Amino acid sequence: MDTIEGLKHLHSLNWLERQAAMHPEGKRGHKAMQSRITHLRSVLPVALLSHHDRLAHQKRPSVVRISTQSCGGCHLRLPAGMLQELRLAGHYVLCPQCGIFVTLQASPAEVAELEKVPAILPTA
Ligand SMILES: [Zn+2]
Repeated sequence: MDTIEGLKHLHSLNWLERQAAMHPEGKRGHKAMQSRITHLRSVLPVALLSHHDRLAHQKRPSVVRISTQSCGGCHLRLPAGMLQELRLAGHYVLCPQCGIFVTLQASPAEVAELEKVPAILPTA
């Protein structure tokens, strides 16, 4: 799995965990979300997963979308070079202040949900 692929999965994991939190156990869709979360965690590189869990422990996301020209996590205005990098398709940058990955796009899981197509599960 390359880095971009890993970050996309990490981004999906963030989104799914938020969704799962909004759909408590017993509610429709909860089980399916949990199994997708379990699957993503099993294919994510350990380094990304531990980064994610460290932030989750502090109740923070590990991937956020950019808000205007600022980090969606801490609202630091990102340097011009980083903004330029972000405009390249599929790019993620690490916020120099809060250490959260920032991207322009919605997570693949969210896009799949919005388009109402069956999500393609990542392969190991
Ligand atoms: Zn930040």
